[in-house]
This record gives sequence, structure tokens and C-alpha cells, in this order.
Amino acid sequence: MNFFTTIMGSGAAIPTLARHCSAQSVNINGFRMLLDCGEGTQNQLRAYHQKLQSFSLVCISHLHGDHLFGLPGLLSTMHLCGRTEPIDVVGPKGLKAILEPIFLFSNTILNYELRITELEGNDYRQVFEERRCKVFAFPLRHSVPTYGYVIEEIPRSANSAPRRYAYCCDTAYDETILPYIQNVNLLCMESTFANDFQAVADEKLHCTAAQAATLAQKANAKQLLLTHFSARYKELDTLMAEAQAIFPAAIAAHDGERYGI
Ligand SMILES: [Zn+2]
Ligand SMILES: [Zn+2]
Repeated sequence: MNFFTTIMGSGAAIPTLARHCSAQSVNINGFRMLLDCGEGTQNQLRAYHQKLQSFSLVCISHLHGDHLFGLPGLLSTMHLCGRTEPIDVVGPKGLKAILEPIFLFSNTILNYELRITELEGNDYRQVFEERRCKVFAFPLRHSVPTYGYVIEEIPRSANSAPRRYAYCCDTAYDETILPYIQNVNLLCMESTFANDFQAVADEKLHCTAAQAATLAQKANAKQLLLTHFSARYKELDTLMAEAQAIFPAAIAAHDGERYGI
């Protein structure tokens, strides 16, 4: 039974050649979904051999460009390549107000059904289900309304415990999310900065690697995947040392790499 995420972008707001804007391709026993869709995601999907039409769901964390600006282009390419299957897109309120005029004014009449679910408020809720997985959303703390997602597999055998993957990007340090991510198999946390930029992290409502590790430890996560690294860090040694001092099972996301859940 496969359950893994492949990183399309592990960079923060400004993409670099090594790290693109946020996006992940998640495979749950053959069901394919995207977490975030920053600028350039469709090229990254091609670069890492992820079939564009294979995705049935896109979950957008928030409406900052580095998580969203690839979505209109990807949806348009799906249309141009002959897609007829519907696609579900989940994200904060405002998603429709952004996407619909883009297609209207570019005279793009999609061949397929675009089903948009907008999130509002602070409840933990289920936002999607099909036979292989359920997806839940919960609020994060950032400068615009932002949601984390938990993807829970539906095991084939009733005896096996479902594996869970939590994605939290972008967010300030916030212990109120702990009940939603408790005991997850893999916790993906943004870690934009190292400790020396704690003041900037606080101001911009981002986490440091050490804060991400503290949340992983308090949530009793099995493993921690750090992502959303500021373009100022060419090497991640300092961030990883600071994280692993608190939570040894911390690893750094790299574009194109695949991580099992
Ligand atoms: Zn971001
Ligand atoms: Zn953001």
C-alpha cells in the first residue's frame, strides 16, 4: 500500500533554482492529490514525471502567491490537454473570486467541472473523502486565513491503523494545532528561518526550524519533514541542526524527492 509525498517545491516566497515555490504531489494507494500549487508547479510536475491529468484534488493552504499562483496555469493546461474528469479544489474563501475572473477574462471555458470548496472559520472539518482517503482541514496562524490539512488513508483491511500525513504551511508557532496533528506518521511543517531570524519569523508569522521541531515533539509525530525554506539559506545545515537537537527524526524536504508516510 503506497502512501507518499513527492516535493515539487520546498522554497518560501521567492523561488530559487534549487527550491521552487510550495507544492507537493501526494499518492495514497493510487489516489493523487496536490498540496499547494505555487508558481511553476506544472513544470515541476513534468520534471518529476507526475502525470498532470492524474490529480483529482488540489488543497490550497492559503492565498499567498507562492502557494497559489501555479493553479490557474495548471488548470488551464489540464483543459488544453483534453481533460474531461472533474477536479476538486479546496482552499480559503476568496479562491473562487480569484479563479473565476481569470478564466472569464482569458475566455477559457474549461472542458471539465471545476468544483471549488471554500473554507471559512476555525473548525476542524472533513473536506474530502473517496475510497482511499479522507482529508481534513484545520486553521493555522498566518497573516491571511490559512489551513493545514491532514490526509488519512482508508486501509483495505479493517485491522490496520490508518496512516496520517499532516501538512502545515504557512504558520507561526501555535500549540492550538496540536490536537489535530497528534501522533501523525509524518508531519510536514514550514520552517522558513533558523533561530537567528526568530524576530523576523515572529513578525511575518512563520516558524523557525526549532519551533517546527518543538511542535513535532509535542504532537508525538513519528517523523518531521521540514519545508518552505527562505531563499537566504543555500545550505540547510544550521536549520537541520537546530531542529534535530529538539526532534531527531527531522528531515529536510528537497525538490523532486519522495518521502514515505
Ligand atoms: Zn509561503
Ligand atoms: Zn504565506
